[in-house]
Amino acid sequence: MDLSLDIRVANGYHSGSQSARVLTESWVYNNMFCPRCGYVRLEHFENNKPVADFYYPMCKNQYELKSKNGVIGKKVPDGAYATMISRISSDSNPDFLFMGYSLDRMIVDNLIVVPKYFFHPDIIEKRAPLSDSARRAGWVGCNILLDKIPIQGRIGIISDGVISDKEQVVNKTALSGKLEMKNISSRGWIFDILRCVNAIPDDVFSLEQVYAFEKALSQKYPDNNNIKAKIRQQLQLLRDRGFIEFVGSGTYRRIV
Ligand SMILES: [Zn+2]
Repeated sequence: MDLSLDIRVANGYHSGSQSARVLTESWVYNNMFCPRCGYVRLEHFENNKPVADFYYPMCKNQYELKSKNGVIGKKVPDGAYATMISRISSDSNPDFLFMGYSLDRMIVDNLIVVPKYFFHPDIIEKRAPLSDSARRAGWVGCNILLDKIPIQGRIGIISDGVISDKEQVVNKTALSGKLEMKNISSRGWIFDILRCVNAIPDDVFSLEQVYAFEKALSQKYPDNNNIKAKIRQQLQLLRDRGFIEFVGSGTYRRIV
């Protein structure tokens, strides 16, 4: 993997956004392996296909690239809000690659993969409608809130210029697949509880420490009158899927 962006591919493009697009897409095309299966070669979809930018011929997995000059940041602007919400509920939603690059230094600094099953309406923020004077007045876009995705779903490929081991990326992606919930409404709860568990500083923690999030959770789910039971049920699920283990007398250990 070579972190440098190849300036030659942008020859002939006059608009900044177009040349940034070819620079970053050609970088992915030439350097990026498939985080799902490790296969090195990918294919590029033709421009303006509605969904994914890339797919890998071996596993047929699809990826959409979102790139930004500078740091990736906590939120990444995306297309129409309504389209995004319907997309994430469907199976055709691709995995996402988020890239931060530097046009000054012509290199890729950061790259993460977020598998599609981490997408949930909670991480999609509705932007204010475009003003009446805008060309697309009334259009409502969205932001992807990366910091709301549990850390297990933000898998680092390049972190501040340091390239992760390919096998490690593939293993982490495979492990994250154990959190896959086909039903999108079930995703909200398991990710909420995973975020609570992630927020506890120690790897060994008590049920009481997770109950401490009860108030915050009941604000989010006002119709649920038994948050504690829900917490226990989701901890069981995280245990069954290998992310935490039960060490006895109301105590758990975080594994991943
Ligand atoms: Zn693959």
